Amino acid sequence: MAKIQMKTPLVEMDGDEMTRILWKIIKDELIIPYVDLKTEYYDLGLKHRNDTNDQVTIDSAEATKKYGVAVKCATITPNAARMDEYDLKEMWKSPNGTIRAALDGTVFRAPIQVKGIEPCVKNWKAPITLARHAYGDVYKNAEIKVPGKGKAELVFTAEDGTEIREVIHEFDGPGIIQGIHNTDKSISSFARACFNYALDIKQDLWFATKDTISKKYDHNFKDIFQNIYDSEYKDKFEAAGIEYFYTLIDDAVARVMKADGGFIWACKNYDGDVMSDMVSSACGSLAMMTSVLVSPSGVYEYEAAHGTVQRHYYKHLKGEETSTNSVATIFAWTGALKKRGELDSIPELVEFAEKLEKATLSTIESGKMTGDLARITDIENVEVLNSENFIKAVRATYDQM
Ligand code: NAP
Ligand code: MG
Repeated sequence: MAKIQMKTPLVEMDGDEMTRILWKIIKDELIIPYVDLKTEYYDLGLKHRNDTNDQVTIDSAEATKKYGVAVKCATITPNAARMDEYDLKEMWKSPNGTIRAALDGTVFRAPIQVKGIEPCVKNWKAPITLARHAYGDVYKNAEIKVPGKGKAELVFTAEDGTEIREVIHEFDGPGIIQGIHNTDKSISSFARACFNYALDIKQDLWFATKDTISKKYDHNFKDIFQNIYDSEYKDKFEAAGIEYFYTLIDDAVARVMKADGGFIWACKNYDGDVMSDMVSSACGSLAMMTSVLVSPSGVYEYEAAHGTVQRHYYKHLKGEETSTNSVATIFAWTGALKKRGELDSIPELVEFAEKLEKATLSTIESGKMTGDLARITDIENVEVLNSENFIKAVRATYDQM
């Protein structure tokens, strides 16, 4: 069989620890035998980030802007322990944070659903994709612990010195206050990323805030979404047969629980933090969750939602067998290849990626899986495979399809 040819390279961002081990096996077993793989390779492993003073992360983000599609392996975000472990010059920033800032993106996460590992919410037949606004609100706040009696005010001072004031509270004893912000620019980018992604995957978009209580702050989110929808997306949504729908956050939560899935749920920063953990754990495992960063200009970066699986890596280093789940990393590759195929009009590449996804799911449905899934499945007579053999089993399924 001739290998599938690519036109534009993928930006390949290699990473750390156990996921770096899986990365190579996935490429060798599942991609390179079938695709004449073209990538522009960036080693985001912590050692190389340190050697290049983290320039490699910035370069990889720039390359993503240039080519449009990247696939990223999980990477270590350094902390004090990693400073010693890797003898770091500095406590380098989170690569995901750097890339997100460069691409001004929104992160979309969706569970990978498979028969035999059922969501706790029985009516969720199709995945719910969570879109989390990744800027501002309580994540960039100012807080004061009020010591005692006094007046708290919100003050905005314009460039020309004029002030806008609003009393928060007249304290007659100790308490707390908090100041949060967001910008119209960031909210607009978030809105466009959500509308573009909904058109891309042809699913309805839900958005919810608490605008009845927060009549200026949350209302501003609602208005920006609605104005952008009406002026730029309404016609496109109607043509695609999908819907944009706004409601209150508590109503959204109630509806999500009764819904059958298959839509995108856009959330403000805090709501997204909380709700994405709820959706992923209701679907079984963090190792069954895809993640894609989409910029308002239509640039895509695919990755797994989990980290580098450090505990398994240390076992691997000791020569012990591991059973690490590679599904989300396989889906990062298929997501990126599929997108490259769509952008470059290579239907064979799109078909390849879809077939590889099916092969991965069928392998699990046939009872062959890694230990994390074996613990939660209702499939009987499960065969627990090690990290490498699971990937080889996927290849065998693919070759039989
Ligand atoms: P983690 O790598 O997500 O792993 C936490 C635990 O979840 C694992 O110990 C394992 O549980 C389970 N798990 C996660 N992925 C799995 C998989 N593919 N297969 C089987 N089990 C899986 O989180 P962490 O240990 O907190 O973080 C490790 C490193 O990853 C940190 O340096 C962190 O900075 C980095 N990180 C990177 C990203 C990213 O690049 N996107 C995201 C998060 C964290 P058991 O041990 O019980 O088997
Ligand atoms: Mg969280």
